[in-house]
Amino acid sequence: MRLHHRIGRVVLSASVGACLGPVMGLSQAPTAQAAQHQCSSIGEMKLTGIEILSAQSVAEGTTVGPFGAQPAHCLVKGEVGRHKGADGNEYGDKFELRLPDRWTDRMYFQGGGGLDGILYPALGASMANPSMPSALSRGYAVVSTDGGHAAKNPLDASFGADPQALADYEYRSTDRVEKAARKIVVAYYGREPHHAYMVGCSNGGREAMIASERYPDDFDGIVAGDPAFDLTKAAIGEAWNTIRFAEIAPKDEHGMPDLKRAFPLSDLNLLSNAILKACDALDGLVDGIIDNPRACKFDPAVLQCAEQKTDACLSADQVRILKAVFAGPKNSSGESLYSDWPYDSGVNGEDWRGWNLGNDRMPIALNAMIYPQFVNHVALAPGEPPIASPFSFNFDTDPGRVAHAHDAIDATSTQLDKFRNRRGKIIYYTGMSDPVFSADDLIGYYQRLASENGGTNRAREFARLFLIPGMNHCGGGPALDRFDALSAIEAWVEKGIAPESMTATGKTFPGRSRPLCAYPGIARYKGSGSKEDSANFVCSQP
Ligand code: CA
Repeated sequence: MRLHHRIGRVVLSASVGACLGPVMGLSQAPTAQAAQHQCSSIGEMKLTGIEILSAQSVAEGTTVGPFGAQPAHCLVKGEVGRHKGADGNEYGDKFELRLPDRWTDRMYFQGGGGLDGILYPALGASMANPSMPSALSRGYAVVSTDGGHAAKNPLDASFGADPQALADYEYRSTDRVEKAARKIVVAYYGREPHHAYMVGCSNGGREAMIASERYPDDFDGIVAGDPAFDLTKAAIGEAWNTIRFAEIAPKDEHGMPDLKRAFPLSDLNLLSNAILKACDALDGLVDGIIDNPRACKFDPAVLQCAEQKTDACLSADQVRILKAVFAGPKNSSGESLYSDWPYDSGVNGEDWRGWNLGNDRMPIALNAMIYPQFVNHVALAPGEPPIASPFSFNFDTDPGRVAHAHDAIDATSTQLDKFRNRRGKIIYYTGMSDPVFSADDLIGYYQRLASENGGTNRAREFARLFLIPGMNHCGGGPALDRFDALSAIEAWVEKGIAPESMTATGKTFPGRSRPLCAYPGIARYKGSGSKEDSANFVCSQP
């Protein structure tokens, strides 16, 4: 349980939607909009297909978890699609909806994370920056869901035994819950929201992209962060990294590979510094940030020891494994099974280690724990033999079996015509040092989206991509990982102000701000003024 608790914290931090960063500029004081109904009477409303489990008023100033004081609101808990599963367990899409007393006529859907199964408080808040104002405090009605099942622990994928619960996780839950929440919002306030948004990171980012592709009428603005959009292939990447690192990892007391010791933090610091040495200056400024990754060419062989392994170099085995990992998974014919990865400075981030190797808080790599659960319970067709251990994935025969889930779960379609035609707007972002979903894969998706939608300039009219140097999965790493994507998408949708950049800060670089530039732009120093102030940078073409 202790281990699960630790894992839970990591999954939580990787998932609670909205890496929104500090609210800047565009926040508005909510105008008072009286609800038509009492909070306590919501349970008596006739809402077909929706079960209200509870409805209670929450007083102004009530704190929720680490997120500080929240405004006065009505907290509704409910469920849609309750049923007894094929495995005999109870399933359904449980949701939480918070309706602020001072509503600004907007809805906010907070994406889930990991394998879902956990009903997080519907605040629209950021785990990376808990002190920033929540969407709820900005007057949004905020809804969250457990994604169709209640998990016994954050690694519990047993819901895959029930086809209905599986479909909810794969693609359906967000749409069902959005429609239920909208009905309650309309009944409670007596009018439709004028705009609806979805913000999610990790699996929540995948759910956000699913919405853009499958349910284009649900949301006007979408923010998809570090999205698990190519999940069936990313799982193969998780298997690949696990098995490659295991090749050179010393065994623990149980005879299992201890991945952490394959690359101690000191070696990853060495790697990060070498990558910075090669690529930091390519954006015109040596500042610990690689802002021109496309120009970055790095070969870990520069770190290879001439003789014995020391703290100042990497062994030949380590160099070989790094090259294999960063090239991405391949079958025995050398065909790519997922994506390569950019060399970036965040390889020494705690989260990067946690996913790939394990760290002090999480003794076993998250990749090694989560991917077999996903493959065995979610991806494989019923009756297929499971993979036996994290170290036994077969890269010739297993990828075809995992692809069984592609059509249902992956959000790789670039057909966004309906979303675009109704003036929907979408922001994608990712950490360049995301350890589980390759930034190169999301860049590849965006480039396909552009080429199949009239080119980059046309695609930028409704879809923009932001790359965050150094950032790990949804936050963390040596990065400026705090930014306000909600204000950016809101201004784009409601005022037609397309985001050329978002201002970012981060605790790794106290006192510093920088623009995150819409792809393919990069931030360049103007040549005068403080190098710590984003006002002295412009977004330019690389
Ligand atoms: Ca730089």
